[in-house]
Amino acid sequence: MRKHVLTLILAGATAPAFAIDYTATSGLGMTLEQQSTRFDVAELSFKVDPTKKTLAGEARLTFTPKHAIQQFAIELDPRYALSRFEVNGKVLSKSEYSWKEGRISFPVAASANTAFEVKLVYAGSPQVAKRAPWDGGIVWAKTPSGQPWIATAVEGEGCDLLWPCVDHPMGKPLQVIQHITVPQGLVAASNGVFLGESSKDGWTTYNWKATEPTTYAIALNIAPYDTLKSNYQSRFGNTLPMVFYYLKGNDAKARGLYEELPLYLNFFEEVVGPYPFPKDKVGIVETPHLGMEHQTINAYGNGYKKDINGYDWLMNHEFAHEWFGNQITNADWDDMWLHEGFAMYMQPLYLEWLRGRVNYDAEMLRQRGLIRNAHAMVSGKPRPHGEAAAEAIDPGTDIYYKGAWILHTLRNQIGDAAFRRSMRELVYGRNDPKPGNFKPRYATTNDYVAIVDKITGKKWAWFFDAYVREAKIPALVATQSGHRVNVEWQTGNGKPFPLPIDVRVGNRVVKLPMNQGKGSFELKPFETYTLDPDSKVLKDQPEIAAWRKDEAERAAVAAAAAAAAKRGK
Ligand SMILES: [Zn+2]
Repeated sequence: MRKHVLTLILAGATAPAFAIDYTATSGLGMTLEQQSTRFDVAELSFKVDPTKKTLAGEARLTFTPKHAIQQFAIELDPRYALSRFEVNGKVLSKSEYSWKEGRISFPVAASANTAFEVKLVYAGSPQVAKRAPWDGGIVWAKTPSGQPWIATAVEGEGCDLLWPCVDHPMGKPLQVIQHITVPQGLVAASNGVFLGESSKDGWTTYNWKATEPTTYAIALNIAPYDTLKSNYQSRFGNTLPMVFYYLKGNDAKARGLYEELPLYLNFFEEVVGPYPFPKDKVGIVETPHLGMEHQTINAYGNGYKKDINGYDWLMNHEFAHEWFGNQITNADWDDMWLHEGFAMYMQPLYLEWLRGRVNYDAEMLRQRGLIRNAHAMVSGKPRPHGEAAAEAIDPGTDIYYKGAWILHTLRNQIGDAAFRRSMRELVYGRNDPKPGNFKPRYATTNDYVAIVDKITGKKWAWFFDAYVREAKIPALVATQSGHRVNVEWQTGNGKPFPLPIDVRVGNRVVKLPMNQGKGSFELKPFETYTLDPDSKVLKDQPEIAAWRKDEAERAAVAAAAAAAAKRGK
């Protein structure tokens, strides 16, 4: 962990190239005090009024610094009015703290290893998400029967849209306790363990306690929910409580989705390792937006769609984030492919496990068609979420599909046993995870490369440099001279890329080690060949670019025709 902190300190020492707006962004950079302070407890009270579309909050935050500090900072969206601000029980007047660009900086004399408490009372209208879950904020929707249906999703903009927090992936509190008050008749489903409810004057308060939740995981989910509940017997010997909060009236469909959960658990526990939050719960909640990996209360809004594989890819994907995103969290958003690439690769892996190879291959081909290569997946520098300068080099959905294809390629090189071990060591920091012997952790791309190096006893920097740190996908270029075919890898960074490939030559398979990125083979008269016949490696595929171009042109023609038809009416 120290390594990450140092990196961030050094990065913070140079002038940031980013516009400073802590509200619109997440992961803009922690202060030195934030980096060296443990966030012990966030006790959050929310009163949500669907009629007025307001949120009244009270937050008690406990921190323990490793070294004596004189000041501290937390982030909170300035659209809220702050009516009370206390540090260690003493009220601070407005002149005693500053609230700039969404960051509240305040004096606090705290000695090393001595906890201090901050209390904030705030209220206002939370930012409304324009296109949840892609844009952060709250969604004030209605159920088909016209009752309030409220959800939040704040991944890009961060936790400070809802509560005062350290808005950085590494800003997780060790514990979050929530008291969510909603009009009586509605249910507030949230993270962690349900601690009970109480009603008074037409309002009901739901109490929750979560262990080390991801900062953007803290979510409000409010509706007239029904629940499905049962226990799952884990292969690791423990019992996992499962619950699904679904909209009243969706019973049959909800049950269909709920029945997928034990399969997911069986798969993830076999292939990756123990469910990370057994003391909290396995939770899903039906939301008016598509979905988000809210720890132990995964947002699900895919309308119970099944596909040709007979499963719900979205639920599988969000659930994968309990391992990749919530248990292992990127140390910086620049490493977000560790969340999305792995979570996306879990769908084909799950389909292979559940249905077989054709389903895996079909899903891989679908994902291959979605790779765009606009920017490198990893820039190597701290990259805040939602920041314009960072968005300009944003790899977009490549962290999903290209990430999945890189993992597919790696798995084919190192084999299933080593690949699974690399996932275990990334996720749990050890090869023998069992309930109780691991805690949520942070990692970078370099950490994963080091894990793969250690497990295989080989260096893989050339592999990750070409795939992860370059936009251009390495191309396999074949040239024929007489009966000899010469094959060469061409990479975006121009460095040797010794990735072995198979070649079908006639009716045999030739393995080319591709030393220094080059190889060759002989053809007999009239023999044909196919490079990488089982699509084991991620490579440039001009036919996919041609297909995408054709699709775009057809879409443009169709759009123009539709516009002309509309004008003609
Ligand atoms: Zn995802």
